[in-house]
Amino acid sequence: MTRHLGSGSLVIATHNADKLKEISALLEPHGVKCLSAGSLGLPEPPETGKTFVENALIKARSAAEASGMAALADDSGLSVDALDGRPGVYTADWAERQWFEGEPGRDWYMAMGKVEGMLQQFGPDTNRSAAFYCVLAIAWPDGEQAVYEGRCPGSLTWPPRGEMGFGYDPVFVPEGRDLTFAEIDPDEKHRISHRADAFAKLVAEQFGDV
Ligand code: IMP
Repeated sequence: MTRHLGSGSLVIATHNADKLKEISALLEPHGVKCLSAGSLGLPEPPETGKTFVENALIKARSAAEASGMAALADDSGLSVDALDGRPGVYTADWAERQWFEGEPGRDWYMAMGKVEGMLQQFGPDTNRSAAFYCVLAIAWPDGEQAVYEGRCPGSLTWPPRGEMGFGYDPVFVPEGRDLTFAEIDPDEKHRISHRADAFAKLVAEQFGDV
């Protein structure tokens, strides 16, 4: 039997204000009051997991143990079939670049180019299938936990197209479409994305509707 959140406070294990806003908007209609790990001063644990599930659980468990409240965390990324699932949990790391000022930055064009370079080594007929994954994990302070996995299948195109979205959106064409995630209207992306899939599963099980 899965534990249910009910109404009450939930710590969102993110220090990213945009993520907190997006997640709060989805959960607050169900009577859940969302607090951010950042506003509670909770530490950010190292993401040492080998899978999205492991990393989401590391973040949710750490926030639940430090706060004494139920906590929700997400982990997401791109998995490319011909690359045996890479970049996977290293999706953001592949964009990391040390700028000359010494500040770490993220260069998404470089990351997309790295994926494309590896695919092109397999020749023109290589399998370009890929999927975005999003895992949501809820952890309670007594050790109980629940996991919801969302997936958005598609394929990779080159060169990148579109100005909207973020990360790898300009090279990802979701299944059944011709446009990349960066060319699709954001409301439409939010309806079909890996995050939408994971949230629909969470809401269906936790609150009994979609
Ligand atoms: P995290 O879940 O915040 O660790 O994010 C992992 C990385 O996955 C992000 O930095 C993005 O590069 C990538 N990613 C996750 N979701 C999307 C998406 O919807 N579009 C493009 N890139 C994404």
